[in-house]
Amino acid sequence: MAVSRRGFLKISGAAAAGTALGGVAGLGLQPKRAHAAAQALRIQNTKAFPSVCPYCAVGCGTLVHVANGQIVNIEGNPDSPVNQGTLCPKGAAIYQLHVNPNRQTKVLHRAPGGTSWEEMELNTAMERVAQLVKKTRDETFVVQDSSNKKVMASEAIFSLGGATMDNEWNHVQQKLMRGIGVTPIENQARI
Ligand code: SF4
Repeated sequence: MAVSRRGFLKISGAAAAGTALGGVAGLGLQPKRAHAAAQALRIQNTKAFPSVCPYCAVGCGTLVHVANGQIVNIEGNPDSPVNQGTLCPKGAAIYQLHVNPNRQTKVLHRAPGGTSWEEMELNTAMERVAQLVKKTRDETFVVQDSSNKKVMASEAIFSLGGATMDNEWNHVQQKLMRGIGVTPIENQARI
């Protein structure tokens, strides 16, 4: 019997699906039940901690499953009135934010004119940032604009916050920035 290319692909696809379903059925499980069982196994013997997705201002509720002090799974919290167990694709990948061998855990510094990044102690980096902010503010603070209007602004500093900054950090950052005269303040959290 001659089989066209399209026909061959259809038969192959059906055979593969049949084999997979047959395998599951052969174990005495229905596919839907097998899926539910796999989901349950994934979080078996874990403790669930309610949390909030850090990525945007929607604030979807999550459940963080922990076993032996390690995060093993993060998913939408069905009890959250905000998202009722759902997460957008970004939120669904929060697990990788925590458990990821590529996660940067040290401060990296590239000196002015330098061509490579060097590790820097966190305290040293914080001290350097504070000194540079103070220096920039002192050197560029504007008391009056060109029309003699009082502005009292640090026009050379811009504050840009990241999505994973929490509410408390954002509150303190705003207080600090406004206190030293910085007006351009942006953050994904829509504060
Ligand atoms: S899951 Fe998506 S929509 Fe919900 S808070 Fe996170 S980023 Fe925002």
